[in-house]
Amino acid sequence: MAEQLGQLARTHTCGALRASDVGTDVVLLGWVHRMRDLGSLVFIDVRDRAGYTQVVIEESHADLLDRAKRLRSEFVVAVIGRVELRSPDTQNANVPTGQIEVRATDLRILNEAKTPPFTIAEDSNVSEETRLKYRYLDLRRPRLQRNIGLRHDITLALRNYFNSQGFYEIETPILTKSTPEGARDFLVPSRVHPGEFYALPQSPQIFKQILMIAGMDRYVQFARCFRDEDQRADRQLEFTQVDLEISFATPDLVYNIVEGALAAAFTAIGVDVPRPFRRMPYAEAIARYGTDKPDLRFGLEIQDFGPLFAESPFGIFREAVEHGGTVRGFVVPGAAKFSRREVDELVEQAKQFGAAGLVWARHAAESVQVSAKAIGEEGARRVLDVSGAMRDDLLVLGSGAPDAISKVLGQLRLAVAKKQNLIPEDRWELLWITDFPLFDWNLDERRWDSVNHPFTAPREEDLHLLAAEPGKVLAKAYDVILNGWELGGGSIRIHDRETQATVFRLLGMSDEEARDRFGFFLEALEYGTPPHGGLALGLDRICALLSGESSIREVIAFPKTTNAVDLMADAPSKVDPRQLRELRIRVQS
Ligand code: ASP
Repeated sequence: MAEQLGQLARTHTCGALRASDVGTDVVLLGWVHRMRDLGSLVFIDVRDRAGYTQVVIEESHADLLDRAKRLRSEFVVAVIGRVELRSPDTQNANVPTGQIEVRATDLRILNEAKTPPFTIAEDSNVSEETRLKYRYLDLRRPRLQRNIGLRHDITLALRNYFNSQGFYEIETPILTKSTPEGARDFLVPSRVHPGEFYALPQSPQIFKQILMIAGMDRYVQFARCFRDEDQRADRQLEFTQVDLEISFATPDLVYNIVEGALAAAFTAIGVDVPRPFRRMPYAEAIARYGTDKPDLRFGLEIQDFGPLFAESPFGIFREAVEHGGTVRGFVVPGAAKFSRREVDELVEQAKQFGAAGLVWARHAAESVQVSAKAIGEEGARRVLDVSGAMRDDLLVLGSGAPDAISKVLGQLRLAVAKKQNLIPEDRWELLWITDFPLFDWNLDERRWDSVNHPFTAPREEDLHLLAAEPGKVLAKAYDVILNGWELGGGSIRIHDRETQATVFRLLGMSDEEARDRFGFFLEALEYGTPPHGGLALGLDRICALLSGESSIREVIAFPKTTNAVDLMADAPSKVDPRQLRELRIRVQS
């Protein structure tokens, strides 16, 4: 039978006691983390959120000893006792409470526990399925306790920061109308209006812009967003954005505020990030790193060697340059010593990333060596010189359309850096990617798509191109990147109805359709809309990176599996036929 807590109150957490507390009478409340039964002496580590403390129960308290022997892992206990210093040879320097122990004068078993399906005390290897089914036990383990605690610290630091910058925290509806972020909507049937549906917000985009029209000046929200996407490794159906919007914003103002916010988040792990962050136009990021999320913790930068091969005897490179393509490559430091097999593997990998082939060159004893003989020794020497490759290095080269070859090389760059251990773990490289194109051509539907979303403003200097050459228009859009991950993105918005209508038309939306989907917004734009802009940061991703986790599931209390299932609550699940009848929904099997 479980005993009662009664009026018993905790005096200290299980992580609090130190040598300076010796002699204090304490009450600890928590779980049995580990226990050792030495016959006439029982040791228990009692754990709560703050840590664990060693408790000793001795023979002199025979009834306590009996009770202690009934304990099992994860029983819930109250310990009443006095803090004592451990003898020097039994002190544990790895645990903050390791100098002391509590000698129990009373012990209450507040609740028993079944044997957990995995140990809480050790970070043993447990399948993700079991962890998610018993998430409440998984969450008790030290790693997730730390991650969830850090998430709290980061959230609090951000809240305090935004408050200090004059932001209002404002909630926007969960039951709403579709927002165009490019994913599939989750729909919620209306009972009151049969046949009609709410959509869950993919983001609060339209509402936050309306808040600017409403004179709220600066808005922030820790907003849950819902996107019905096929689950890739690092996506969740619902995720949290730190969503913000600023009236009278310029890109510089947004950068400044967001850099301050990220610096505040980093204080949670005691890291001081240098500001301002670097800035790089999208086109340059693609050319030099083959991606709009470059990881700048290491070099291996892609270089362009097109002009060197304009008249090369090597037909593949020469023709690529003649037809508007180019030759690009990067230097792999220390890889001149690669064996034949290692070099072949590199070529194979490049092909898997979509390259037609990969040429390599390196310095040899007295000469140079190049895999495509037709390039000739002279040609190879020249490109090695221009690339800056040293004696120990290997230069890899590919050809094709400029963006395409950079994208292949960008993937190879990452793979090589990982394999060669060139990525320092303790570096934080933050940067802005700017000047994204406004539109992408949608080949299948023969129309333009927004790269960001349809409310993103074109650069003022490109406005005249909007009608005739939309593909050349750059946007006032920006992403913030950390170590190769997109932390967030946003833009300065269109704030006049005419430009907004032109953009909808370019996206293939008839005036009628635009009115139907966003009529309320278009109307609001006509009532004195201030210039405004903002951004949304992915809170889950920030927490994962700052916790040193590679998956956002490790920083979300109750995540879904990659198969979109909540294994603990068993959702999604069938519902009562009566509920469906009320909604006038018939399910086809
Ligand atoms: N609503 C955008 C997104 O979810 C962010 C923004 O433009 O502020 O990506």
